[in-house]
Amino acid sequence: MYSRKKIIPSNRSRILECIYRNAPVARTEIAKITGITPATVTNTAAQLIDDGIITEIGEAAPKEMSSGRKRILLDIVPSCFYAIGAEFTREALTACICDMKGNICFEKTLSFPDGICGPVAARIIDTIEEIVKNSRLDWNRFVGIGIALPGQIDADGNPLIAGRRIWKQFRPGELYQHFPVPVAMENHVRCIALGAYLFLPNRIPDSFSLFHAGSGMFCATMLDGELFTGRHNAAGEIGHTTAREHGPLCECGKRGCLQVYSSEPHIVAAARTIYRDSPGTALRSLADRAEDISLEHVLTAYQMDDPAVKALINDALRCLSISIANIIIILNPGKIFMHGRLFSRESIWTALKEYVDRQLAFVGESYHASIESMPCSPSDGARGGCALAVSRFFL
Ligand SMILES: [Zn+2]
Repeated sequence: MYSRKKIIPSNRSRILECIYRNAPVARTEIAKITGITPATVTNTAAQLIDDGIITEIGEAAPKEMSSGRKRILLDIVPSCFYAIGAEFTREALTACICDMKGNICFEKTLSFPDGICGPVAARIIDTIEEIVKNSRLDWNRFVGIGIALPGQIDADGNPLIAGRRIWKQFRPGELYQHFPVPVAMENHVRCIALGAYLFLPNRIPDSFSLFHAGSGMFCATMLDGELFTGRHNAAGEIGHTTAREHGPLCECGKRGCLQVYSSEPHIVAAARTIYRDSPGTALRSLADRAEDISLEHVLTAYQMDDPAVKALINDALRCLSISIANIIIILNPGKIFMHGRLFSRESIWTALKEYVDRQLAFVGESYHASIESMPCSPSDGARGGCALAVSRFFL
């Protein structure tokens, strides 16, 4: 039976997205890319200019000019509106205000070294209200709020993978009701992928996967400018694919999930055991107590060639490389961006790429170039929340 897959975007929405992805861009180019008639592009652009949403920023360079009419280039006006984004994890809550080009204008982070406690929604509300007040922007300047979630929820607000302590403290309904602007929620890695797609158009292709390995693990995939979410919005839980059938127990109830080998908490916990059991470990020169060992210490010990730490990280990278290669073989997304602090050190990144290359030896060179490291910052999730708001309520 035929069922319409999705709402067809309006011409305005398609033209705006085209400008996001191609700016600065001329009206004739927009018509060519979108397939919308030149007359409709001209009329819609005139309305968007009147509304202060886009602006003319000069003519195309002479070498690009075709004979005849001048081609005036268009771009989004960054300050035409603003978006609010927030991300919470077990360790921190970050909220920010971005302009329509993804530039962070105001930001606030609360850290929870012992784990977030109390009602999470109330903390998000307080933090957002505070940055809005500090920004002195009226609520009518905001297109909406995007909340980047450390997991997935279904249409009723229930977590798709239950059992995580953080979900017991989070009541999404309170957030939908509280603000005078609309609120959207989405997995934080999908938000980061949307942020990259909208705010880094020169670097990010229309189709790509964004593989995040941090406290948790998730792989968001964008296909031709659309987030791939799966039949039940559950696509992307790469951390709970099995790396080793009889491995350690995971929080999801299965054994040997990827995230019990390659997520930050697993790596840090295993490094603390090395600290306790191995008097000669380089980790002991970096921290006074096993409990003080952080991911940064582990990465440094790797670079110091500590044998046990190298074995730990290399094992995490081997498990990761199998997952990355599986995605490349099954989805062929064109590009996989790896996102996480683990990939910030050159030697670890090189080792990961070598493992992936071994996995892909049979498919030839074209696959090998498709893995790239994406710089990560603690505000990526909140900024991605802003992109979610732009995508849902502005485009
Ligand atoms: Zn699991």
